[in-house]
Amino acid sequence: MNPTEEKEAREIIKKIVLLNALRYDGKASPKPIFSKLLGEHPQFRRRIKEIAPIISEIVQEINALPLEKQREIVAEKWPEVLTEEKTEEKKQLPPLPNAEKYERVVTRFSPNPDFVLHLGSARAIILSHDYAKMYNGLFYLRFEDTDSKTKKPKLEFYDAIREDLRWLGCKWDAEFIQSDRLPIYYEHAEEIIKSGNAYVCTCRREDFQEKSKGSQSCPCRELTADENLLRWNRMLDGTYGEGEAVVRIKTDLNHPNPAVRDWPALRIIDPEKYLHPRVGSKYRVWPLYNFSTGVDDHLMGITHIIRGKEHLTNQARQEYMYKHFGWKYPETIHYGRLKITGASLSKSEIVKGLNSGEYKHWDDPRLATLAALRRRGITPEAIHSLIIDVGPKPQDVVLSWKNLYAHNRKQIDPTAKRYFFVQDPVKIVVDNVPHDFMAHIPLHPDHPEMGVRYFEVKPEKGKAAFLISKEDIEGIEGKKAVRFMDLFNFKVEKVEEGVIQATFLGESYEEAKRLGAPLIHWIPFDSGVPCEVVMPDASVVKGVAEDACRMLEPNEIIQFQRFGFVRVDDVNDWLTAYFAHR
Ligand SMILES: [Zn+2]
Repeated sequence: MNPTEEKEAREIIKKIVLLNALRYDGKASPKPIFSKLLGEHPQFRRRIKEIAPIISEIVQEINALPLEKQREIVAEKWPEVLTEEKTEEKKQLPPLPNAEKYERVVTRFSPNPDFVLHLGSARAIILSHDYAKMYNGLFYLRFEDTDSKTKKPKLEFYDAIREDLRWLGCKWDAEFIQSDRLPIYYEHAEEIIKSGNAYVCTCRREDFQEKSKGSQSCPCRELTADENLLRWNRMLDGTYGEGEAVVRIKTDLNHPNPAVRDWPALRIIDPEKYLHPRVGSKYRVWPLYNFSTGVDDHLMGITHIIRGKEHLTNQARQEYMYKHFGWKYPETIHYGRLKITGASLSKSEIVKGLNSGEYKHWDDPRLATLAALRRRGITPEAIHSLIIDVGPKPQDVVLSWKNLYAHNRKQIDPTAKRYFFVQDPVKIVVDNVPHDFMAHIPLHPDHPEMGVRYFEVKPEKGKAAFLISKEDIEGIEGKKAVRFMDLFNFKVEKVEEGVIQATFLGESYEEAKRLGAPLIHWIPFDSGVPCEVVMPDASVVKGVAEDACRMLEPNEIIQFQRFGFVRVDDVNDWLTAYFAHR
């Protein structure tokens, strides 16, 4: 920064520090200041190294002042913010640890393409993506497809995952696929065997575990590097079959967690039996999770790994490998589990349901896959704000669908057009209707500029017929008055088999209010488009939607008044919609 820029930066930081100090009894802390600065002044994202010491300097300086003095400065220099501050602040992520130590922040999302993503995965994606952007860094997508035996990848999921990321608005700066990188893993395996920090173990798994439990080494561990290299070549050339040899990384045999002790890094998978969807039977030796991930994180320059705390054991394993290679382990942020009550976020349970035929497809509305949420009209913005709200905290978080719906409602309520949908329609005939009606009903009650829908009501000999929802019958029977929304008031005379008879009362809304008339929605008889709404429990509600719905496009999110928000799935001679929430 040149002196002018630095002066400007100091002024901005001073303001943020002072405001933070005022909010916290005169003591500002550097972390939220960092977040706020980078969030509001993105030009500093490239300059975190220079900015960090300035922040601590100013924080010290300001914190040394008495609260009164702090308030005085603010009142004098920025009187407007003292009122501004009261408005709700947008939630921001806490700063990354040690970001200033790196030239550039690099994060990654690394799914196994053996299934589509769900709401739980959205957390890793959004946090990794947003942190990279917050620091003007890079965000990578890495497919970890090295297990064609127990977590077999499928071609369709590579694309499905890309689609999910695009939908979430998390664009990646580079993409890697581990099955393209086998020579790199082989090279590193050879190197670490040569250095004597790994060995090829041919013991039976149970025998190895037995020894390992007692902190004892197996005989293979004592072999020379040359002998191990020979064994390594036998793994590659097919002398050893599946299950007959694994490469193990040397660790502390006394590590308190036996699962960390001399963990397996590469193994043999019978290439004929377990074809890989991308590279077929080209390779027989495959890296295990910790080895390929560890090598890649280093080679790709990942500075911050943001993942669930179930990975803490993996970090313990990988740190041995990093030490052997002389690498520095990336910064890690381990967040707690995210549970949604009433939704299965477990991949295996979802797959089980798909295999048994319980779910037809992975976008079944009962599931919390991103594809299912998308189909139901949950917006990526809602998922984004939910995830940022929860943040990367290490505690477990339990959310309900209601939390997600609240975020979504905030997004769609201001823009969703309103329409009438009559569920399980029943006919109602109103008598004594004095004249024709042309109803203009706004598409959105708060936004007249969005336009109106028209309904023409033409009584014949004073009789006009309508359709109403069957479930409304109960609420209107015996009432002094009922009002058709934005039309007129009537009174139910009798409910007969299949048809309701009613009498016209008047047009006044005030009158309806005075009489405590329930407001119900309606459509003219002989109008409308047949409509099916797929509900969150996968049941289907049938009815008729008003004529204007013929003009809707797939993917539009609308509100069926008094029913709920839905996403238009298909428009034809009929309409199919997916229910989002009320
Ligand atoms: Zn062994």
